[in-house]
Amino acid sequence: MRTKQIRLVGTVTSHDEAVIAVQQQPGDAALVVRGAARALVLNCPCRCGDSLTINLDGRAGPAWRFYLRKNALTLFPSYWRDSRCQSHFILWGNHIYWCDHEEWWSSEVSVALRQTVWEHLTAEFSRYDILAEKIGDIPWEVLDACRALVREGRAERHPDKRRGDEFRRKGF
Ligand SMILES: [Zn+2]
Repeated sequence: MRTKQIRLVGTVTSHDEAVIAVQQQPGDAALVVRGAARALVLNCPCRCGDSLTINLDGRAGPAWRFYLRKNALTLFPSYWRDSRCQSHFILWGNHIYWCDHEEWWSSEVSVALRQTVWEHLTAEFSRYDILAEKIGDIPWEVLDACRALVREGRAERHPDKRRGDEFRRKGF
């Protein structure tokens, strides 16, 4: 069984320390912080035993957006390993959502967030992660809210699959 939860075991200052810190079990995670957050090192939740290094530092190349709220970690976008175990997952609020065979979104979007997202939608299609930045919220939550609004008929997803991360308000 692949693990569905990560456990933040600590914050360290070097990659080497992080690799040692996460050795105990799959899903163990350590943050490398030197001035700013540099990387997340994760004992691969698929149980392959490898440690994954996820860059959080935009100055060091392509980086994931990273949120730490109430000791719960979220990464954006999803992590997709292109070698060995090829794990592909979303990390959201310390929970691992496997992308290959699980509906990963929660269906409990708060009314308040749905309303806020709806108010930020316009007649033009816009990307949910850009909306999330404007609202100051986690992209997965905003995507979740957009999907809820689509189900309620209050928003529309772009009909072109390649632009499937774009939404607009419905009913102008
Ligand atoms: Zn793995």
